Amino acid sequence: MDAQVAVIGLGSTGSMALWQLAKRGVRAIGFEQFTPGHDRAAAGGESRIFRTAYLEGTQYVPLLLRARQLWRELEEESGARLLTLTGGLMIGAPGSDMLANITASAEQYDLPHEVLDDSAMAARFPQHRVGPGEIGFLDEWAGFLRPEFAVLAAVRCAQARGATVVPSCRVDAVDPGDGLVTVHAGGRAYTVEQVIVAPGPWTARFAPQLAGHVRVEQLLLAWYFALDAGAYTADRFPIFIRDIGGGRSIYGFPTLDGGLVKVSPEGGVRQLHDADTFDRNVPPSVTERVDAAVAEWLPGLVPTPLRVSTHPEAFTSDGHGLLGRLPGTGNVWLCGAFSGHGFKMSTVFGEIAAQLASTGGTDLPIGHLDPARLAG
Ligand SMILES: Cc1cc2nc3c(=O)[nH]c(=O)nc-3n(C[C@H](O)[C@H](O)[C@H](O)COP(=O)(O)OP(=O)(O)OC[C@H]3O[C@@H](n4cnc5c(N)ncnc54)[C@H](O)[C@@H]3O)c2cc1C
Repeated sequence: MDAQVAVIGLGSTGSMALWQLAKRGVRAIGFEQFTPGHDRAAAGGESRIFRTAYLEGTQYVPLLLRARQLWRELEEESGARLLTLTGGLMIGAPGSDMLANITASAEQYDLPHEVLDDSAMAARFPQHRVGPGEIGFLDEWAGFLRPEFAVLAAVRCAQARGATVVPSCRVDAVDPGDGLVTVHAGGRAYTVEQVIVAPGPWTARFAPQLAGHVRVEQLLLAWYFALDAGAYTADRFPIFIRDIGGGRSIYGFPTLDGGLVKVSPEGGVRQLHDADTFDRNVPPSVTERVDAAVAEWLPGLVPTPLRVSTHPEAFTSDGHGLLGRLPGTGNVWLCGAFSGHGFKMSTVFGEIAAQLASTGGTDLPIGHLDPARLAG
């Protein structure tokens, strides 16, 4: 046997799962088709939002609270700074779905927050143009993460604890077999007891029984020049999500390089046939909608991007990820399709995947993520 547990894909969640397995003393091997910390899948692009008062549903709050503890543990073990809490400003009309869900999370879990009316928000955060009657919900336990650093940190910590990493090696197939599982990769067959499949945008390939419920989207990131960069530093400009009407929103970050501010549209800009057909080129027409929103709502930014990047991400039909037993198997655990909001929880998803693969269960609430719900 080559290891007790194999992890397929050392991206956001796979890297964390490998680290957690190694922490538990489980003999683990991880396969990555590129190199750990690369920016060609869902974890690239400099920064990811962390927030706790959760618009996607109150059921995530216990996971977010545990995720935050684990981010701090990973920082301590790796020596890397990964999570910066800046607060998170969510701007919209009172009564919007976004603000209703966030408020429900905050109330149910007693999360620290402030609610600002339009004039208080305009006075405190003049970087935003505020519409009459809009309110701002300031989530104190929000900020940003450094995705590439985080993945690399987790892989290095896993290796330091004895895990084996096989970089630049694409897994071709997983054969659950009877008892042991065979992983076919790089012209070799590896035998293990359990497998965690964490291939991100390639999830449908390893879960054909769920393929009808999993799609790949191309997501866009764009960086805009700040006329007064000092007004957009992390201590003055919290991460934000702004409702721009018509069910759409944009989100953004403080400047990390002292000049550019990243602003992105929520959701995908194009659906892809398959993650392998992903093209990193972005025609200027793709950014036009974000440029228009920046011109309207962030007047201190020049509304044509100086830099863009684009990344694939798998979405499920109900917007909740997949974490649990791959239907029809006994020893394959699926961890993927986190639908545009999984990075902040990658630490806890990795921990849960490691618990599932080593003990078969977890105490954390993941019923809403069970792959069986979509398997018919
Ligand atoms: C542009 C963008 C912005 C986002 N913003 C946020 C945000 O602000 N906050 C937030 O919480 N979430 C955000 N998300 C979502 C979040 O980044 C993803 O949900 C998360 O990164 C997915 O993690 P993953 O482990 O499933 O996938 P990935 O991180 O993509 O990891 C999958 C890994 O598997 C590898 N792999 C795939 N197939 C194979 C194979 N056959 N063999 C070997 N290796 C393989 C890939 O190369 C990759 O490294 C965003 C996503 C994108 C794309």
